[in-house]
Amino acid sequence: MDPILGLHHVTATVDDAQADLDFACDALGLRLVKKTVNFDNNGVYHFYYGDERGRPGTLWTTFPYKDMGVPVGTKGEGQVTVTSFSVPTAALPFWADRLKGRGMTVTEAEHFGEASIVVRDPSGLLIELVGADSDTRAPWVHGDVTAAQAVRGLHSVTMTVQDIAPTLEFMRSLLGVEVVSDMPGRLRVGLAGDGPGQLVDILHGGGTGPARNGLGTVHHVAMATTDGDAQLRLREELVRRGVQVTKVMDRQYFTSIYFREPGGVLFEVATQGPGFLVDEPLEALGRGLKLPPWVETNRPAIEASLPPVRY
Ligand code: ZN
Repeated sequence: MDPILGLHHVTATVDDAQADLDFACDALGLRLVKKTVNFDNNGVYHFYYGDERGRPGTLWTTFPYKDMGVPVGTKGEGQVTVTSFSVPTAALPFWADRLKGRGMTVTEAEHFGEASIVVRDPSGLLIELVGADSDTRAPWVHGDVTAAQAVRGLHSVTMTVQDIAPTLEFMRSLLGVEVVSDMPGRLRVGLAGDGPGQLVDILHGGGTGPARNGLGTVHHVAMATTDGDAQLRLREELVRRGVQVTKVMDRQYFTSIYFREPGGVLFEVATQGPGFLVDEPLEALGRGLKLPPWVETNRPAIEASLPPVRY
């Protein structure tokens, strides 16, 4: 099989659009690289946050579903329960103070020798900042966060499952992952290596019960593949194994397929390109509401239905 290159993005269902923008851009200092709508539900925004140009592996994306009848979700088995970003280790106290200063409760953690802090975002999502000095990715530097402090990109996701073994076997045989660390109840696999942006922790749920998708939960995690040909080969293999997989979906900035691993977590495999510069220049990323050509004809109605936001 073609190798998976690393994490591509993590997508969550969130509550209020403006609170989400304020947290991601102002508190975490991520760049809003695209303001568009959910292609499967045009009445809802889709925000993409990342580094300067929204490179795969730096992307956090959200659907703000406030007042749309979506209930608050339940964290649990069959779900990504923690999304982790990497920062320089020396910057962890800065981040703890900054997030406490915004009224958040900050807890300290450590996994496999890396110190971290964990907060709940405005929708209740668990967001972790991991001190990872091996991360050489250039950060987006913005506002009052310096280059020595800024988020580098995704570090890892933690997915909670009822039974680790089938998930590991699936990911190993299909996606080529390797175990890079383990401890009782938690296994860390590397998607293409063992660096930040390539890591998935598989956590034993310990009877926490099944997750339910809704506000404040991660909807899916996407992994990066080289191109559409590699994506089709993976799709064929999924079909051969009898795994339910979607057709290739045009997401404008990449193409995607979706399927569930045996533990129930929704996986997406997305192409690296074409990326976020296809419909706005680098300096203007995220400024205007961008719609794919097949949705553009409905722009007036869509704009009228979306809540106004600053950014
Ligand atoms: Zn996605």
